[in-house]
Amino acid sequence: MSAAPLTGRRALVTGGSRGIGAEIVRRLASDGAAVAFTYSSSKTEADAVVAEVAATGGSALAIQADAADPTQTGAAVDRAVAELGDLDIVVNNAATATLLPVDEFTPEQYDRLLAINVGGVFWTVHAALKHLGDGARIINIGSVNADSVPTPATAVYALTKGAVSSFTRGLARELGPRGITVNNVQPGPINTEMNPDEGEFADFLRPLTALGRYGKTSEVAAVVSFLAGPESAYVTGANVNVDGGFTV
Ligand code: NDP
Repeated sequence: MSAAPLTGRRALVTGGSRGIGAEIVRRLASDGAAVAFTYSSSKTEADAVVAEVAATGGSALAIQADAADPTQTGAAVDRAVAELGDLDIVVNNAATATLLPVDEFTPEQYDRLLAINVGGVFWTVHAALKHLGDGARIINIGSVNADSVPTPATAVYALTKGAVSSFTRGLARELGPRGITVNNVQPGPINTEMNPDEGEFADFLRPLTALGRYGKTSEVAAVVSFLAGPESAYVTGANVNVDGGFTV
């Protein structure tokens, strides 16, 4: 029997307690990686992910850290490195969606959304860089809303995901000489607490996909697994849509 593809690799996933991030933690662990992940407030869910991974023979560590706070994200990277050793895979998944018309944003709401969705990615990478070996993988979780915005009240969320897409390309160029790949997975509608597959919003989004359905968290995690693994070594700076054809 061949070894799991990520055996011996060490991964950090931000926002791994629920939704897409939790599924990425489960998938990387089942691929053989030792996984640390952050969460901000969902301790019960984070503990459940750790227990679930352990029950299947894997290894996961939950770290409380608010992605909006560079001190906390830096401490989370340090803790992951202290427990696992230097990192091979960083997945920037933590984000929030404050959906409001532009003129209803308060400065505090705008600053917090930018701090989590953009600052969280930047400061996690900033702290992780010195712990990444040559050939490491950085995978950002952006959104199809960077390229396509069919719903109102989504402009500022789209702004943050556009920034993630641009940062991905610049970082891919910067880290290429070290053989580090940087890619941006852009989900379409995926059934999670952020975007449940029921109600008016879901009924509006579903027919905008070519496949006519919401995606599953496992369908995003499978692509992350590929980008984290040895067979994607020549893929970098890419926006990879996992959107059921939302953007075609
Ligand atoms: P969920 O809201 O279901 O889960 C978000 C996760 O991120 C939770 O684990 C949450 O933990 C964590 N998180 C949120 N805020 C913070 C914070 N400030 N600090 C640390 N962790 C935080 O979201 P999804 O799983 O749906 O989304 C995951 C990613 O996919 C996001 O980047 C999102 O923008 C993107 N995406 C999702 C789509 C969808 O349709 N679901 C579509 C396109 C993109 P806690 O509860 O502890 O805060």
